[in-house]
Amino acid sequence: MPAVTRSRRARGLAHLALPLLALAAASPARAQGEVNIYSYREPQLIAPLLEAFTAKTGIKANVVYASAGLNERLAAEGANSPADLLFTVDAGRLSEAKDAGLTQAVQSAMLDQAIPPQFRDPAGHWYGLTVRARVVYASRERVKQDAITYEELADPKWKGKLCIRSGQHVYNTSLFATMIAHKGEAATEAWLRGVKANLAHKPAGGDREQARDIKSGKCDLALGNTYYMALMLKNEKNPEQKEWAAAIKILFPNAGDRGSHVNISGMALAKHAPNRANALKLMEFLASEEAQRIYALANNEYPVSPKVPPSEVVQSWGPLKADTLPLDNIARYRRKASELVDKVNFDAGPSS
Ligand code: FE
Repeated sequence: MPAVTRSRRARGLAHLALPLLALAAASPARAQGEVNIYSYREPQLIAPLLEAFTAKTGIKANVVYASAGLNERLAAEGANSPADLLFTVDAGRLSEAKDAGLTQAVQSAMLDQAIPPQFRDPAGHWYGLTVRARVVYASRERVKQDAITYEELADPKWKGKLCIRSGQHVYNTSLFATMIAHKGEAATEAWLRGVKANLAHKPAGGDREQARDIKSGKCDLALGNTYYMALMLKNEKNPEQKEWAAAIKILFPNAGDRGSHVNISGMALAKHAPNRANALKLMEFLASEEAQRIYALANNEYPVSPKVPPSEVVQSWGPLKADTLPLDNIARYRRKASELVDKVNFDAGPSS
């Protein structure tokens, strides 16, 4: 690399507004260079993985964590960006990065073999690493049935009984995008109107607040991601969340037909990755069984590798039959899904 480029990149790193955390403890004697990660995933989730990677390869892993704005930063930095990899959640967000021209395609027989095709971009721009299902949280006390479908959430029998976070949140627009892929636009619009009519109140909060509202009796059913159940069950910092979790049971929607909607957390190689070879090594490591085992335990998600079992707490919820719809359908329909949410005025709540 020409000296001028190197110094500009070094400056770029020094000027990062967020702390660049060196999570790995590579000894200088074993140092094999580095890899820079921009992560929307919290550092404590990925730290054990990066430590294992550094122990194995000697490559130091630096992480910039932020809950927002990393795509914009990548775009602004352009060819001078120090970022090699982007870690984020949701196929919708990964495809957003691809559509914005922030990623590059990867060709790796190892990745293609380790990661099932529905969980990666067909062109190699993004790869899933963990899987989460968007399930129904149901009141243990008030909901007697043990099976449900997404379609049924629009049934008038649930009027005033349903809670959900904003329809525009990416977890929901991704689910709605898969509804469009399966059922078409008109059917999805009618379904959204039915779901909205069943809401107990205006969409608000995150997934965990829906469990809270079931516990307090404001609603009987909600949509939520699986790993939040584990986060609530084990929450020593906010023990009241254990009670929210105890008030609900997980119903896996559409277990009797197409399966439950799943999404991923994943990774993409940055378009201008300065440490491309090291980034590829890390990508392949993260897809390995060793890393999949660590990652599955860190946040109680489902491993993307079919060879690695989920954690005990995840297994305790029963088997997941995952919808096999390729997640690149989310990229195809997510804009339409978001438009439908606006069209039916979903976030205004039930009485509008
Ligand atoms: Fe989440």
